[in-house]
Amino acid sequence: MLGASEGSEQCTHQRIELIIYFIEAVKLVRVWYASGMEKIPDPIEEDKARLQVESNFDKKPGRHTLNSDIVAARLEEMQLLKDKLIEHPELRDFESALYQPKNIYLIPVDKKEQSEEIAERLFEGYIKKFEDMGATVNNVVAWVNTRMPGVASNKMHIYDVENKWNTWTLHAIVEDEGTVREDKYLPKYVAAYHELMHVEETPKGVPTSYQQGDMAEILTTIKTITLIDQIYKEIFSINFSDEVDYKQEVDWGKGKIRLGWLANFYRNLEQKYNSVGRAVVSEESLKLIQGWVIE
Ligand SMILES: [Zn+2]
Repeated sequence: MLGASEGSEQCTHQRIELIIYFIEAVKLVRVWYASGMEKIPDPIEEDKARLQVESNFDKKPGRHTLNSDIVAARLEEMQLLKDKLIEHPELRDFESALYQPKNIYLIPVDKKEQSEEIAERLFEGYIKKFEDMGATVNNVVAWVNTRMPGVASNKMHIYDVENKWNTWTLHAIVEDEGTVREDKYLPKYVAAYHELMHVEETPKGVPTSYQQGDMAEILTTIKTITLIDQIYKEIFSINFSDEVDYKQEVDWGKGKIRLGWLANFYRNLEQKYNSVGRAVVSEESLKLIQGWVIE
């Protein structure tokens, strides 16, 4: 019996010693790990931080990294729209009917210079809200010369490759020459306004696959139409509240309306609700899109 009792005492002793060793070992590992974390920074994270500064629009025109607060500046408007989409799937048909070159190429090509003067003024006015971030008409978008206007240019790309040379960026490019379609001209500053709106409507850090997202063109296109209508009226000295006959109708199945009427309708709603997003999801707008006759 004695022998047995001695043995168990020895055993407890060894166990306690083992636990103490174990606790000390854990402490040592933690100290070593913490010091290592300080001494060896993650190279990718370091590159990212540097690239987010070096690749932003104030250094690289048209590029917007996570540091650009123009990115997602109007994201809330997109959310309003997406919430309405569940109840109002007809918004998709309305978008498809609107997003057509014939609805935005409306200015005769011989009015190119005059239209650019007005468009530049409107674009400058729009980006004033980003003045403190260093935004100018020359750096918020990249002015490019693709020789394939309309096909390769006037776009916003999402780049999500993260490595030594790249970090997440949006790239808004606009054809510096402007674009022409069947003797009608689309001012480059209106195209820039449109592409910058895409930057404002994109959430930060989304993957490239987000590019062709749902309803991506409805707000930008409505705004583009109202801008073109405003420029057209200024060029031809037409009263702002009058309707221009563009000999063009927008037909989305549930309804059909003259383009000039539509421009006035959404301009008024935007003024009333203070944003193009709230204008599109307003009661008046949704009634129209559902096919109610409003005149
Ligand atoms: Zn677009």
